[in-house]
Amino acid sequence: MTLEFLEAWFRRRDEPAFRARQVLDAVWRADSRDFDAISTLPSQTRVDLDRAFRWGTVADTELTLADGGRTEKALHRLDDGALIESVLMHYPAGPDRRERNTLCISSQAGCAVGCPFCATGELGFGRDLQTAEILDQVRSAARRLATRGRRLTNIVFMGMGEPLLNLDRVLESVAALNDPGRFGLGARHITVSTSGVVPGIRRLTALGPQFTLAVSLHAARDPLRDVLVPLNRRWPVAEVVAAAREHAATTGRRISYEVTMIEGVNDTELDADAMAVLLRGTLAHVNLIPMNPVAHTPWSASPMAAIERFAERLRRDGLPVTIRRNRGQEVGAACGQLAADRAGAPPVAAVARRRALLETSSAAALRGERSSEALPVGVDA
Ligand code: SAH
Ligand code: SF4
Repeated sequence: MTLEFLEAWFRRRDEPAFRARQVLDAVWRADSRDFDAISTLPSQTRVDLDRAFRWGTVADTELTLADGGRTEKALHRLDDGALIESVLMHYPAGPDRRERNTLCISSQAGCAVGCPFCATGELGFGRDLQTAEILDQVRSAARRLATRGRRLTNIVFMGMGEPLLNLDRVLESVAALNDPGRFGLGARHITVSTSGVVPGIRRLTALGPQFTLAVSLHAARDPLRDVLVPLNRRWPVAEVVAAAREHAATTGRRISYEVTMIEGVNDTELDADAMAVLLRGTLAHVNLIPMNPVAHTPWSASPMAAIERFAERLRRDGLPVTIRRNRGQEVGAACGQLAADRAGAPPVAAVARRRALLETSSAAALRGERSSEALPVGVDA
């Protein structure tokens, strides 16, 4: 909650408004545990705070480590039993860069977009997260890092959910993260990723720069993007990129385009050409990411040689490209994987149907055929 909200609460109780500041400081400090530990407050106030508010909204966080301890995946249980995930990645300092600690957070439980290579998409939509539930993933990670003498340097909204379909809560969260009186992280250190919700992108453009915008592109041709990002039927790729270009031009901030590289599906020469043509001349950066293996798809990551060829083609048109390495594969760090595992295995026949459907639809897309039928979301749909 905001300082103003808490000040009003104290005023109504005839307590000095400055207590609000003391509470917020404690809430955001990485080493404080609960209201009772705020020793600057009278004990009755602490009791009343504890009755009126919750200290945290994520409980029973289960942690799993990977990459020799540099990747830490957290499965958080929310009040209503919903499971969400966040992933903390440590990048040690190098000769020309400082240490980074990046947290990947969720904005929804599940996701309605239903990208077939994404474990969250397979789960379907659960619900929007509240602002506190988004922020408590950050507080949880900051606390864990503090015990190791580290602090968070970057936050990316690349966990479960489509942030631009929960935009009000995401904007409130970003405001709290930016606020020097709360988390105090600069806008340049925050990235929000979208699968291409055009009205949301336009709304962000009107608001001005708040964070780096990442667009999950995956394919530049409509027939293929219809399969990989079903939202493409609503907002086709040309409209998405036009809105992103406008965002970059207005805010002066580079757009980050994400491409999950899937062998034989979107890593062809044809697709590299189409992407180079679509993006050249824009204020853009392209990240190529080998697909993380997820259950229930017939697909796997492109071989590194194919990814390098793809990158070279984009670079020929002057586009800056980075090839990202996967992190946390052994703990299923493609967001949604842990929660999907908990949901239990879908029926064998449903999995087989889905695989067959994905194979035929991606083969048709490669031939350039745009199917009129949308793929059903989830495995047992
Ligand atoms: N819904 C938003 C943000 C969350 S997904 C979006 O789609 O942009 C964050 C990123 O993870 C997206 O770029 C998404 O395409 C990618 N992703 C999902 N599943 C993946 C997988 N199995 N391997 C690699 N990247 C994946
Ligand atoms: Fe949703 Fe993003 Fe996963 Fe697509 S990739 S299903 S938009 S979380």
